[in-house]
Amino acid sequence: MNRLSQFLWCAVSFLCALAGPLVVPEGAQAQTSRKPNIIVIVGDDMGYADVGVHGCKDIPTPHIDSIAKKGIRFTSGYVSGPYCSPTRAGLMTGRYQNRFGHEFNPGPQPKGDVGLSLTETTLAARLRALGYVTGMVGKWHLGGDAKYVPTARGFQSYFGFLGGAHPYFPGKGAPIFRGTKAVDESEYLTDAFRREAVRFIEDHKKEPFFLYLAFNAVHTPMQASDKYLKRFANIKDEKRQKYAAMMSAMDDAIGAVLAKLREAGLEEDTLIFFISDNGGPAINGSRNTPLRGVKATTWEGGIRVPWMMQWKGRLPAGKTYDEPVIQLDILPTSISAAGGEISPNWKLDGVNLLPFLEGKKTEAPHSALFWRFGAQTAVRKGDWNLVQANGSKGKLLFNLRDDIGQTKDLSAAHPERVRELQAAWDEWNKSNVPPGWKGKGKAKAED
Ligand code: CA
Repeated sequence: MNRLSQFLWCAVSFLCALAGPLVVPEGAQAQTSRKPNIIVIVGDDMGYADVGVHGCKDIPTPHIDSIAKKGIRFTSGYVSGPYCSPTRAGLMTGRYQNRFGHEFNPGPQPKGDVGLSLTETTLAARLRALGYVTGMVGKWHLGGDAKYVPTARGFQSYFGFLGGAHPYFPGKGAPIFRGTKAVDESEYLTDAFRREAVRFIEDHKKEPFFLYLAFNAVHTPMQASDKYLKRFANIKDEKRQKYAAMMSAMDDAIGAVLAKLREAGLEEDTLIFFISDNGGPAINGSRNTPLRGVKATTWEGGIRVPWMMQWKGRLPAGKTYDEPVIQLDILPTSISAAGGEISPNWKLDGVNLLPFLEGKKTEAPHSALFWRFGAQTAVRKGDWNLVQANGSKGKLLFNLRDDIGQTKDLSAAHPERVRELQAAWDEWNKSNVPPGWKGKGKAKAED
């Protein structure tokens, strides 16, 4: 650069700097059209009854509860499978996992050519295409080979483990990865996920971000830190005490994430989802009351979960929403919140919930919801539920409005209703494919 061009460059820069603040409308528009950050928080194997807003008395969950209190709690919130990996496949794609063969868990530590089908596009990839910074912290469980790992599926950053479960104390188990590199970790795992999630927000607070925070708490192995065990010295049942301590560590971690958002002034710019990936299993000390059944079953206790959403200033606060929703809705809701268009070519099963929550649409978001997990099936249409689950002889019919605990089979009294729900399920099932790998379709504690 010669002296003249240097001078001109300086002069132009100076004038631009002067003019910058004068361009008010453009600046103002950029302020108001900021795309919201999106945070999806997933608990693992939580009991339906084990959050304060569902009436839990012995384990305070103030931070999870705060999402419901500042947002919307869904009283009929579902996941599309009763098991870890299938549910996550549905979450990441907005499609029933049965559409692409992800009916069962691909094993506790998936290796080889097994994982979330490469024909599918993840929420992370879709948000990245809309200009988002995408990061994941936690349990993946959608494949361990290079082509299946989070950083190959739309996440720009990743900290966590790839399998279905992991010890909580350092030095044991499969590797913890940062990106694709195994790293040493010295903290209790839930605390490490907390640290990484808060750091991700700090690092990206100036740009629209998507954070998928998938805790493995409160999945087995049941391992709690002393700090939290002491908090529950009053609980005499050892299993329940450990579960409570692990829940409380997760709740505190969620509290740290929410506090970081407030500190960064981002609470009104952030859409937050919280769900459990499936119902509580029999083995971890969780409780699903008043629901029947547990994880790995298509009873309500396997598939109906704590489900809440917060977007301060945009969505109503402290409301409940009673129409059935499902975790498949998280993808289209997020894409819509981000200002993206949903193409029919994506063949989504989930729907954008925003117009329903803002009162612009008054009908139910779904005409019916469906489940297939091996020989176990379920369909919910309105208040009616037709189910064949572990332990049931044939298909049973319940009215969930009157009988949330699925205690009174009405199939003999309402054969026409049985036919109607079965026909809806059969129609849905026509677009499914056979499972991509074997699974028992029944409870197996270790998965
Ligand atoms: Ca799970």
